[in-house]
Amino acid sequence: MNRNLDTIKQNLLDQKKELELKLTTLAKEAFSDGQVQDPGDQALLSTMESLRTSLQDSDLEQYKRIVRAIKKFEDGSYGICIDCGNDISEKRLLSFADADRCLACQEEYEDLQTE
Ligand SMILES: [Zn+2]
Repeated sequence: MNRNLDTIKQNLLDQKKELELKLTTLAKEAFSDGQVQDPGDQALLSTMESLRTSLQDSDLEQYKRIVRAIKKFEDGSYGICIDCGNDISEKRLLSFADADRCLACQEEYEDLQTE
């Protein structure tokens, strides 16, 4: 294994902490009920609400990926491509710390998704 893994793990832990804070804030906001009488405001509010929901979903998705990556550190499977079993390049992991696949397998995987 390579020497930058500690840095990558630290990045993941920092990102996890940041997302936890963000998601907690979003959840609190979602539960606070504002007084809305005007139908225009109501429409705006529902737009905001759906925006917030999709934002929260992608944050949640990111959060799950980070948690999974941290777990991989613990069981020693971090940085190994789930498709071909080869090491994922350090360069790729530094940009995408939660990558499951090496670049070649990821490209293949994305091709399959869009077919
Ligand atoms: Zn691969």
